Amino acid sequence: MRSRLVAGNWKMHGSRASNRALLDALLKDLGALKGVACAVCVPFPYLGEVAGQLRGTPLAWGAQNVSEHAQGAYTGEVSAGMLREFDCRYVLVGHSERRQLYGESDAQVAAKFAAVAAAGMTPILCVGETLAERESGRTEEVVARQLAAVKFSVGAVLAYEPVWAIGTGKTATAEQAQTVHEFLRKRVPADTPILYGGSVKAQNAAALFGMPDIDGGLIGGASLVARDFADIVKAAEK
Ligand code: PEP
Repeated sequence: MRSRLVAGNWKMHGSRASNRALLDALLKDLGALKGVACAVCVPFPYLGEVAGQLRGTPLAWGAQNVSEHAQGAYTGEVSAGMLREFDCRYVLVGHSERRQLYGESDAQVAAKFAAVAAAGMTPILCVGETLAERESGRTEEVVARQLAAVKFSVGAVLAYEPVWAIGTGKTATAEQAQTVHEFLRKRVPADTPILYGGSVKAQNAAALFGMPDIDGGLIGGASLVARDFADIVKAAEK
């Protein structure tokens, strides 16, 4: 059976004090999880403290990016081995903000994916089309290319995140998302969880997670509010 996962992507938000308060509230609101795993992907400097707070709880933690290199003269970069030392379970790779704002290529994303898997963590590979690509009927071509660039391994997680829905308040309808998930499903190992991301809120989560090929969500803005994120996680419970 495919496992379900809801992962929060804090992006570049937070402070030591606000993180602690958010996670305290979240742990209280979530209680025991039924049939779904939950994680938060936090900025690098907070990994140690977040790990300290979450160890022994139902919440896992991870990072939002990683270097494709193991070590060396790469100023400002963080390797998979370093993330492993903080017991990260998940690492996002190929988030559209990384692809668009920092020019990450498919080849770089593939190398990052391989580095995370080789270090024994779970890569969450993000794929998704822009609005122009959708409107010109190229959604499947784009996500297939992004996926095919990666040597996708058993145990990894895939996230479909239409770029036009990220942080915009515009969500793909459950049917639009399901169509792409069904397309992706045929291209990954059988038990791969496929998450949907893009303006998921407590109000639309149940409809999305009710679709046969949607196994949970990657949540940006709403993961910064404990009550909202907890409600989304509850909507993914089985
Ligand atoms: C994301 O950052 O991956 C994301 C889906 O953001 P939001 O939920 O804010 O659209």
